[in-house]
Amino acid sequence: MSSPKSARLLDAHAHLVDPVFDDDRDCVLERARAAGLKAIIAVGETLADAKRNLELADRYGEMIRPAAGLYPTYLDLDEALQLVAWIEQHRERLAAIGEVGLDHWKVKDEGEREIQRDIFSRFIDLSIRLDLPLNVHSRSAGRPAIELMLERGAKKVLLHAFDGRAAKAMPAVEAGFFFSVPPSIVRSRQQQKLVERLPLESLLLETDSPVLGPDPQSRNEPANAALVVSAIAEIKDTPEEDVVDAVERNAQRLFGI
Ligand SMILES: [Zn+2]
Repeated sequence: MSSPKSARLLDAHAHLVDPVFDDDRDCVLERARAAGLKAIIAVGETLADAKRNLELADRYGEMIRPAAGLYPTYLDLDEALQLVAWIEQHRERLAAIGEVGLDHWKVKDEGEREIQRDIFSRFIDLSIRLDLPLNVHSRSAGRPAIELMLERGAKKVLLHAFDGRAAKAMPAVEAGFFFSVPPSIVRSRQQQKLVERLPLESLLLETDSPVLGPDPQSRNEPANAALVVSAIAEIKDTPEEDVVDAVERNAQRLFGI
């Protein structure tokens, strides 16, 4: 990084409520600041996570931008509806709706996929109604997730850790959706190929902490978002400063951060 202290980077997707951060969350956030991060979108998997994300934001201020959602493998329509109501209530404090989406890796049964689709549709409609960006998981379900969002008219979308081929991503690029790139790009040929093809204007940084780090055996943390800048710069054969400028602009456009 050419100017690591200037704090211009956004980690667009991290699970900071994860108990693996309970013992040293202060230090993790301190290292994130030192690595050039100005903010972290704290996604949630449940209603309990959503409430805890607000508490983290109370404690750590602007560094934490809370989000709320139901993880796509939780096929619980009641909790989804509770979350929809909770998000409406707390809209002013939230940076995004997430993590939500489709997961065809773990969920194989057609009936269960139908429930997943129904729940995701409700969050898409909520995103449009409240003008809040979606923070989307689409494991083994890139194409159906993109098609569903286009069909329902989603406008503000981040596809996190997209695991499909670039060709499947193109309709989303054309619709102005964004893609966030995790630090596992240093070891993932699929992520490298995706970044080769996607325009800089569509990219953001993320970590998905505590997973998707550069080393699969170690806990990932938001400071590693800085590694993604170097990886993108190398793949695109462009100066790191240009990558920082681009992801800063993109974060501003999507999240206003
Ligand atoms: Zn995640």
